[in-house]
Amino acid sequence: MGETESGAQGIEPDTRDWADVLETGCAECGFVGDEDVAAVAGVVSASAERWDEVLARPNAGLRSRPDRWSDVEYAAHVRDILDLFRERTQLIVSQSAPTLLNFDGDAVALESDYRNQNLAEVAVGLRAASLAYAADLAQVTEEQWERTGYRSDGREFTVTSLTRYGLHELQHHLQDVGA
Ligand SMILES: [Zn+2]
Repeated sequence: MGETESGAQGIEPDTRDWADVLETGCAECGFVGDEDVAAVAGVVSASAERWDEVLARPNAGLRSRPDRWSDVEYAAHVRDILDLFRERTQLIVSQSAPTLLNFDGDAVALESDYRNQNLAEVAVGLRAASLAYAADLAQVTEEQWERTGYRSDGREFTVTSLTRYGLHELQHHLQDVGA
């Protein structure tokens, strides 16, 4: 047992490129890949309440297993993912074929010490991130859904595919915490 109280040992870094769910769907959470992007703003803003319920659980701050994030760690990750997708969306909408920021969720989890983050602050931050991203999505125009940007590995995203990718992250992590 290499687990320690304060460290993040035990979490295997996730090296999968989850963007492939856009083509293949995701059997784990039921994501299909052609979800209606016009509905995503509503799903994102409504998710804040579901996360509030998750974070109100008595053991939200505890890992059920050493190799699995606690509800608070998942929520902190989703907060940062929602901010990332909002920033990526703003970039595509405002610039011509921009390169999108990279994000290593496992590295950020360690750097930001998700494991010891304050539950109440995570809840407030997640709600703010949900509402901000939903508000931006609600403003995307018909022409903007087709605008493109590129990840640093060259993969092309439109605002449409980026939004579906972000929706998958949210949906999959709600599934992870059983919400
Ligand atoms: Zn999934």
